[in-house]
Amino acid sequence: MNIQLTKNQIYWNSEFDRLVEKHARSTGLPVVADFYSDGCGPCRMMAPVFKKLAKEYQDKAVFVKIDTNQVHQLSSRYSVRSIPTFISFYNGKKANEFSGAGEQQLRQMASSAVDQAEYENVVLTRESLAEYYQTQDPSKTQENVDSVYQKCVDMMKNKQITDCVGAAAQKLSRNLRKKYKSAPTLVPRFTEVDRQSKTNNDKAKAKPDSSSAGASTSTKSKSSGASDKPNLNLATIEELEKELAARREAMAEAELEAQDEDEDEDAEFQHGWAPSDFPERVTIIGGGPAGIAAAIYAARAGLEPVVVAPPMGGQLQGKGVDVENYPGMVNVTGPAVVATMRTQAASFGAVFEAETVLNIDTSTRPLKVITNTSTIETHTVILATGAESNWLGVKGEWEMRGGGVSTCATCDGHFYKDTHVLVVGGGDTAMEDALVLARTSKTVTIIHRRDTFRASKVLAQRVIEHPSIKIKWNTTVEEVLGEASANDPSKQLVTGAILKDVTTGKSITQPCEAVFVAIGHTPTTKFVEGVVEFDMKHSGYIQTFEGSTRTSVPGIFAAGDVADSIYRQAITSAGSGAAAALDAERYLSEEGLGNEQAEFEAELLREMMEDMPSKAGSGLDDVYNVYADAGSAAKGYKESVGAEL
Ligand SMILES: Cc1cc2nc3c(=O)[nH]c(=O)nc-3n(C[C@H](O)[C@H](O)[C@H](O)COP(=O)(O)OP(=O)(O)OC[C@H]3O[C@@H](n4cnc5c(N)ncnc54)[C@H](O)[C@@H]3O)c2cc1C
Repeated sequence: MNIQLTKNQIYWNSEFDRLVEKHARSTGLPVVADFYSDGCGPCRMMAPVFKKLAKEYQDKAVFVKIDTNQVHQLSSRYSVRSIPTFISFYNGKKANEFSGAGEQQLRQMASSAVDQAEYENVVLTRESLAEYYQTQDPSKTQENVDSVYQKCVDMMKNKQITDCVGAAAQKLSRNLRKKYKSAPTLVPRFTEVDRQSKTNNDKAKAKPDSSSAGASTSTKSKSSGASDKPNLNLATIEELEKELAARREAMAEAELEAQDEDEDEDAEFQHGWAPSDFPERVTIIGGGPAGIAAAIYAARAGLEPVVVAPPMGGQLQGKGVDVENYPGMVNVTGPAVVATMRTQAASFGAVFEAETVLNIDTSTRPLKVITNTSTIETHTVILATGAESNWLGVKGEWEMRGGGVSTCATCDGHFYKDTHVLVVGGGDTAMEDALVLARTSKTVTIIHRRDTFRASKVLAQRVIEHPSIKIKWNTTVEEVLGEASANDPSKQLVTGAILKDVTTGKSITQPCEAVFVAIGHTPTTKFVEGVVEFDMKHSGYIQTFEGSTRTSVPGIFAAGDVADSIYRQAITSAGSGAAAALDAERYLSEEGLGNEQAEFEAELLREMMEDMPSKAGSGLDDVYNVYADAGSAAKGYKESVGAEL
């Protein structure tokens, strides 16, 4: 699926500028922009979140998507060096920015942009200020009032704005309240009706230079009579080009509208979890290969599992190159592998709760899985939350995430075309990153703290033999260096790194434009600290027992990278996910925990049957009694689980 397809796509610089300016002047709505690219896993991960927020805030903010591969100038104007990057604009100016796949951060950014816009959606009219002074301080002349008013207008520093509005109006109002103990009346600057008419106007218009003379818009030519059509025979080349661009855009927009509607039919939206009065039998936390394999097995066993995980996540999402070692999968990238698995699980009846789990309450039975927005009661839990990238923890690293420091070469590599980049690490991920970057960067230097690679032989050999990859053995990164971007001084961009030779202790400064950190992963298990026992020998990993996926808590199982300090592969994770589903099913059988909803419904029907007139003399002797079988059917359902598996 191509994530760029949305009706809010920006194709040109000028289109974006017009949009931001228009909303500053005519609607007061903030603009939230998603700088992304198609091959980037975290961008794919954030795409549904961005879309969800765009829907949530549809009348309160404008959400646009900018493909960094297509609209280069905008990316460089805002010094975007990592994707996804989200930037909010208010009143024609950049208000906020962050890079990375942070759902909470994006929510926060959108919500604070909307709050700010609502707070600033006020106007103080000249008449209102004059009236105010008349009651509070009649000594003020009209000239005094005009001067105060003009100061407020000037504070907005926007020549197009000639009224006392927004933050300036709020400030003036606060100052006057302090002085006179009451404030002048502020009224909304833009009403819902204003905003809607502006937005609808937009939709009706074709965008590129549609109002300019000569080439009329394609929309116009469709809706109006023949006389409105431009006379293309007499048009200049420039006018013809404009007309062509307008027509192309109108066609693209129509296509995107249709695509956007189709996207709402995504499997995950159709298979969302809904709370019920009965506990779930299996709740799986994590939507990577382990979680999804567990979901497929449990779903095929009729256990109707719930998969709780943010929409699209996991380590394979960051793998833009093909997964070459998963049997049966040929020529497919990491995100595509996971997407296929999810569709398969949904087709067997797995349901999805697109949330992050915060905690598991084991103090009562059923267990309670607590997310940001829901509490799921469940008899069993399968922990499959995988692992997260490690960071170096050196000076400059945190500050320059999004400005040249990255853990995703496939996502951010294209920003460093023809430049010098560093890759830190000695495992498979570092090798893959170096090979990906070597396709476009001028030089790639691997910084490795030992004198041999830990990576697989094949990959290590490819790297060692590559003409544009250099290796600095026995070297560590001490600090990432940077300077303010020329385009956006609020942003620091990488200019180099201080490297230390661990054998001699000497440090050097190595100039570079980016540092890709590939130093392994840590299991995502913090949220179950104190809930289940951890592996004593391998920090952060969950302890499983007796060659199974059972953990220290009955009913909780662990699969995939969270419980595997050795193999950590997609195939081994999927295998242990399947094992966890089998273990959970066995546990349910041993504990006599069946499908309570089906049993309850069967019991209800049985009671209803008993209340019905007896067969004798009722004339119902020959009628098939569906209720008589209901109990055994429900029981059979539960028992058939084992057979199916
Ligand atoms: C760049 C890269 C390339 C790789 N290439 C390969 C390869 O080619 N072949 C191969 O076999 N392996 C590869 N691997 C390793 C492989 O991706 C992992 O072994 C595998 O993904 C582990 O699967 P998992 O399901 O255990 O965890 P993950 O895939 O990490 O999935 C974890 C899931 O849990 C979710 N989650 C995390 N915390 C929470 C929470 N609190 N609440 C809810 N959900 C949560 C995540 O969103 C995600 O859905 C690669 C790894 C990386 C990083």
